[in-house]
Amino acid sequence: MEIIISPERMYEFSEQCRSRGQRVALVPTMGALHRGHISLLDIARRQADVTVMSIFVNPTQFGPREDFNEYPRPFEEDCRKAEMALCDVVFAPTREMMYPDNYNTFVSVENITERLCGASRPGHFRGVATVVLKFFNIVNPHVALFGQKDAQQVLVIKRMVEDLNHPVKIAVAPIIRENDGLAMSSRNAYLTKEERAEAGTIKRSLDQGLKCYEKGERNAAVIKNEITSILSRTDFLSMEYIEIVDTRTVRPVDTVPSPALIAVACRTTQSKTRLIDNVIAGGSI
Ligand code: AMP
Repeated sequence: MEIIISPERMYEFSEQCRSRGQRVALVPTMGALHRGHISLLDIARRQADVTVMSIFVNPTQFGPREDFNEYPRPFEEDCRKAEMALCDVVFAPTREMMYPDNYNTFVSVENITERLCGASRPGHFRGVATVVLKFFNIVNPHVALFGQKDAQQVLVIKRMVEDLNHPVKIAVAPIIRENDGLAMSSRNAYLTKEERAEAGTIKRSLDQGLKCYEKGERNAAVIKNEITSILSRTDFLSMEYIEIVDTRTVRPVDTVPSPALIAVACRTTQSKTRLIDNVIAGGSI
């Protein structure tokens, strides 16, 4: 496995692959790899000849009071895990290479970034869209893999490539979970023992909402109530949002369409860890 730091070298490497007729897949990550990330690599390998995983903790997607400095960066361990998963290239540029002093250009996807995570993390999706477009320009992949775990991110990236006529294909991977249903996340490492023991409640509540939908319920308020009633049974989570939105507009719905995104975000009460999770009713994103 090759480790590439310089964007110029990465661009050149990818161009060489393309000129040999090889398909290139990109898996963008912030590192601290877990089985969710590895599942994206596995899917990427089936869709391309060369798999590139970027590892970059992107400063522009963190708010001033968020965990940019604390975010785990076990780079050597990540490289070992990526190599074990038969990744061909880890692309890990420095912050200065991505955002030099005179950096001034940002990508802002409008409307669909205002709700859900966008409401509590102003500027987050501007940072995400910017760094992802930069990676698309540097790696020029045929296909890029994103996890349903960050569902609004998927909707934003899909909107961006369509709006800006980028030829990359966006593939979405299912959420990989711990045994109790907790969605794997690099931030799970922040959880206290008590919080970790309770965190499976999030998926249980979403499953209850989905069950309600599958039985024929289409009133969003009724489904949201089911989810809330389960989540409010634990003292270890405080809710940020429970929303059912149209996957095209990311607007809350009264009557649940197909597909609809049922998404929750909460913060744990002890370690203040922000956890997100979702299920899709009646289809996929
Ligand atoms: P991150 O390193 O958190 O930026 O995540 C990098 C990519 O991995 C994103 O596309 C995420 O949606 C995806 N991802 C994160 N957690 C999971 C998970 N539990 N299952 C599947 N994909 C995931």
